[in-house]
Amino acid sequence: MAEAGLPASTAQKLRVVRLGHPVLRKVAEPVPEEWFDTGRLNNLATDLLHTMMVEEGVGLAAPQVAEPLRLFAYWLPGSEDEPEVEPRVIVNPEIRPVGEETEEGWEGCLSIPGLRGLVPRYVRIKVKGRAVDGSPVSLTADGFHARVIQHEYDHLDGIVYLDRMTAMRSLMFEPEWERYVLAPAEAEQEESPDA
Ligand SMILES: [Zn+2]
Repeated sequence: MAEAGLPASTAQKLRVVRLGHPVLRKVAEPVPEEWFDTGRLNNLATDLLHTMMVEEGVGLAAPQVAEPLRLFAYWLPGSEDEPEVEPRVIVNPEIRPVGEETEEGWEGCLSIPGLRGLVPRYVRIKVKGRAVDGSPVSLTADGFHARVIQHEYDHLDGIVYLDRMTAMRSLMFEPEWERYVLAPAEAEQEESPDA
């Protein structure tokens, strides 16, 4: 039933499912050709973007909102060494590494709340896919940009970042990660009066 007074395009915040929900372990289906540039795909993409921003994630794949389809949303806020990427959705993506080089970096996941772990990923990848209107998307990503895309792409194949970790010893809770990894110097200073 339509909600009275709300235009059809109003973004909905969808429920993000957590590890243990079977949809996170399924291989998602390609978005059918006839869905491009339709309200159905537009609404799903809009809701995915909205949910990602409300949940304060940098990426969200459709299986994480219990839609076993091959699309994901992501964005990069930008920093000193990373360019900003506006929130966008890529449908039916294909990725391949450019070169063999990998690097470890910290990841978290909205479907595995409260944890962070070190995950090896390809440093540079090529991405091909479609936009919601069906137009082709083609880009090369590196660093954190490449990491976010590889993390989201994995969700389309039923893979979570824990499966990619080679050193489970690095797994930690977010407050501890913030204290001992993000700002270790400050944490030491804080502790010194008790020493
Ligand atoms: Zn995730």
